[in-house]
Amino acid sequence: MSYVDEVYERIVRENPNEPEFHQAVKEVLDSLRPVVQANEEQFRRDALLERLVNPERQIKFRIPWIDDNGNVQVNTGYRVQFNSAIGPYKGGLRLHPSVNLGIIKFLGFEQIFKNSLTGLPIGGGKGGADFDPKGKSDREIMKFCQSFMTELSKYIGADTDVPAGDIGTGAREIGYMYGQYKRIRGLFEGVLTGKGLSYGGSLVRTEATGYGLLYITEEMLLHNGHDIKGKTVAVSGAGNVAIYAIEKAIQLGAKVVTCSDSNGWVYDPDGIDVAALKEIKEVKRQRLTEYKNYRPDSEYHEGKGVWSVKCDVAFPCATQNELTLDDAKLLVANGVTAVAEGANMPTTPDAVDYLQENNVYFLPGKAANAGGVATSALEMSQNSERLQWSFEKADSKLKSIMVDLFHRIDGAAKKYGMDGNYVAGANIAGFEKVVDAMNAQGIV
Ligand code: NDP
Repeated sequence: MSYVDEVYERIVRENPNEPEFHQAVKEVLDSLRPVVQANEEQFRRDALLERLVNPERQIKFRIPWIDDNGNVQVNTGYRVQFNSAIGPYKGGLRLHPSVNLGIIKFLGFEQIFKNSLTGLPIGGGKGGADFDPKGKSDREIMKFCQSFMTELSKYIGADTDVPAGDIGTGAREIGYMYGQYKRIRGLFEGVLTGKGLSYGGSLVRTEATGYGLLYITEEMLLHNGHDIKGKTVAVSGAGNVAIYAIEKAIQLGAKVVTCSDSNGWVYDPDGIDVAALKEIKEVKRQRLTEYKNYRPDSEYHEGKGVWSVKCDVAFPCATQNELTLDDAKLLVANGVTAVAEGANMPTTPDAVDYLQENNVYFLPGKAANAGGVATSALEMSQNSERLQWSFEKADSKLKSIMVDLFHRIDGAAKKYGMDGNYVAGANIAGFEKVVDAMNAQGIV
């Protein structure tokens, strides 16, 4: 059996009931085969892959808090500190009822390569809790965030582990967590990113993942003789990533016709009104059923359906495994040119294969959505120098990081004879830097 298969089998055996983690490890290891084969003796001797797929540390903790009715609630919190070879652990905090250890491990594992691809000095980590923010009052959110941080604060710090937002963790939650960290540790330091602008946040961080997604997609399309301008775009999700992907796509001259949340989806043939979407989701925190009140000619449908709409470019920006093989077939039948992942692992492996087999340009999340963490690293730099950059400076840095990132993954794919396979290119380019640092630091 090959070294890659041995390591994968062991991961499945030793980490039962973690299908998302198995999926992420398989996807990465499969595309690393040519690199592993070229270095098999050394990698085996150093147990390189075993060290790569096992987190340095995983922390699981209890989060007790009191709801508005005076009842005690208990959630489970996680922080997986996966790999610190190239810098302090960095990765978001997901608050969603579906959160479990396997999901946090899949996200933390992906984060290692994503962070490496940005070219910035940040290691990989991820955390979160099985807390459902939906329907909670502002006070309940605060009490939960404070209890969560009371425990998490023991394990993080500006030079050790710097969490950020993710599903369910936006500016409000980061603010409450930051306040509690400062109160407990007595440190005003860059321990979280995604902070508000009045207390150490970076301009462009809010927009960064969505904007970065469009910058890299634009570069990939230009490189292959296409232009985002004039294209029809389908987006799933209506959260942070989706909203700013829609905004930048419109700015670049595309027409975005869909968005969705976990209840249903919107089709707006005249193009999504991003100001209305922001008001619904960011200000009023309502459901997408409200969108019709702003745009009477739009359609709202219950359930899933974004990928049935004819489009040139598709941006899945909601959650993992939301774009299946059947969806990929619909997209191809409707003539899609490119799919770029705003979310983490939103496309199932068979759907990725189908898209690639049908010559659809496919950008994986670890490259396509790296703009968020890249700007988080820029926020860390600004905190260290106690300065705040202008919007223009942060935005132009973000753009150049995403353009460079595209050429790094394109180059890595070409180096191993897989021209245009950006999945392989991203995994290989991300892996090479981490492995170089791990080798230099000995068996730790
Ligand atoms: P948000 O919480 O802001 O938005 C998530 C969106 O996806 C919401 O519209 C939500 O709908 C929908 N959604 C969530 N879970 C499901 C589900 N199980 N089924 C259908 N729809 C769902 O999160 P973000 O926009 O921050 O994150 C979206 C994705 O992007 C995630 O995969 C995240 O890991 C990834 N990502 C985020 C980054 C960031 O900077 N924020 C950086 C890199 C990646 P509803 O409101 O109904 O729950």
